[in-house]
Amino acid sequence: MQMFNLKMYMAGEWVDAENGETREIVNPATGEVIARAAEGTEEDAKKAIRAAREAFDSGSWSELAAAERARYLFAIADKLEERAEELAALETLDNGKPLREARFDVADAAACFRYYAGMVTKPDGQTYHVADPVQAMVVREPVGVCGLIVPWNYPLLMAVWKIAPALAAGNTIVFKPSEVTPVTAIKLFEIIEEAGVPGGVANLVMGPGPTVGHELAASHLVDKVSFTGGTATGRSIMTAAAGNIKKISLELGGKSPNIVFADADFETAVDYALFGIFANQGQVCSAGSRLLLEDSIHDRFVERLVERAKKIRVGAGDEPQTEMGPLVSEAHMEKVLRYIEYGKAEGATLACGGNRLTNGGLEKGYFVEPTIFVDTRPDMRIVQEEIFGPVLAVQRFRDEADAIRLANDTVYGLAGGVFTQDGAKAMRVIKKLRAGITWINCYHPTYNEAPWGGYKQSGIGRGLGTFGFDEFTEVKQINVNLQVQPVGWFEN
Ligand code: NAD
Repeated sequence: MQMFNLKMYMAGEWVDAENGETREIVNPATGEVIARAAEGTEEDAKKAIRAAREAFDSGSWSELAAAERARYLFAIADKLEERAEELAALETLDNGKPLREARFDVADAAACFRYYAGMVTKPDGQTYHVADPVQAMVVREPVGVCGLIVPWNYPLLMAVWKIAPALAAGNTIVFKPSEVTPVTAIKLFEIIEEAGVPGGVANLVMGPGPTVGHELAASHLVDKVSFTGGTATGRSIMTAAAGNIKKISLELGGKSPNIVFADADFETAVDYALFGIFANQGQVCSAGSRLLLEDSIHDRFVERLVERAKKIRVGAGDEPQTEMGPLVSEAHMEKVLRYIEYGKAEGATLACGGNRLTNGGLEKGYFVEPTIFVDTRPDMRIVQEEIFGPVLAVQRFRDEADAIRLANDTVYGLAGGVFTQDGAKAMRVIKKLRAGITWINCYHPTYNEAPWGGYKQSGIGRGLGTFGFDEFTEVKQINVNLQVQPVGWFEN
């Protein structure tokens, strides 16, 4: 197997960590080491930040004509598409996800660059005729140097959701991937270099969150930090960012309710319930990890769900028949298995799954069965806390009001779905959900055009769409005096 030696990218140069440290990158399907990645330090982060600061202050990127910046972004999109198969294979190797999902992510990543490339050349700004003789106009400008920090569940896509709008808006960036899945982000930076983006505009630093990530959140040379990851980490980023009142965007965790009423199209709801929790091995922030079933269909629905969950083909992501891959790392698998133990200990009933898979050649990887708990109570940890794995907690409800109460009964507010054939009921329920991303009669479809983010402890701000672009801009009012003469406020 080819062994990659992965470097960081700063000021247009590929570099090792200043102390020469590396980290082993592991294929979660086999436990094999596939690469060694530079393990950066706080010093490396500072170096990358200085490069981004100099590039921003020089105006070489922020002052480019919008059409010029768009040209670079279109070139990046083209190159992502040209290398789509290679990138998808690497994503599967590093993260474990089935190849068909990885291919989807790469296509989405290219589309995201195109979307923002198109956006920068469109009209923006506002004008107000505030009072004679002043005309006010509002313009958007880049925030400056942006620290971008992402998790491991969609390594390439999460990177692109931040890098594309940040660069489009004229910022310079320091990007940090998750320390366990840096491979495709490094390929993306090769592409950024090939596309001719000037050195220092886009910088890549790797290493641990508490040192390298913390420096991006704390440095006074950074104007904004945009973070996707766990809620606890988000809290510490907010604290670190307070030093220079940095702008922040946080895309955090979830424990999202998927509500199925008795009048729903039964097979459609079953299908999306499975997709909602088991896609990407349940490692999705917006996963439908709580399934709320109306009393009268509960037993029949669970029976059908279990029948289908048991048939999900679990295996290495690069096997063509695989429908669900391994969890991302051994440590994460251990966490998920611990949650399954909590569920059992708290009195929930396992309807299916619950174990690590250790047969059929899977013994060296981090595979966990699709797992469904029933007989849950709202106060259980498996109902309240984000597991981030293939573990579904089923809850039952009496009526619409009960469903809404249960749905909103966690600290999170990222996503939620409703299945019913009664359109008015669907809208009533969705409007009561305290969540930023919602679906009616489907679950999970996500588009670059629509804003992504959460209520409550699921985050601050929105990614994607025009909202995601705006997060990477500052708003400036310019007041223009149309009659140039003294104001005459003071007599002398
Ligand atoms: P994590 O919070 O542990 O790590 C995310 C990133 O933050 C990593 O790059 C990590 O190195 C870095 N980090 C860790 N500690 C840090 C610190 N003190 N300061 C700065 N950076 C630090 O999350 P994870 O385990 O990698 O990912 C899973 C989490 O991500 C889940 O909670 C999931 O819900 C969330 N997530 C949210 C979204 C969303 O859009 N809302 C999308 C994907 C994942």
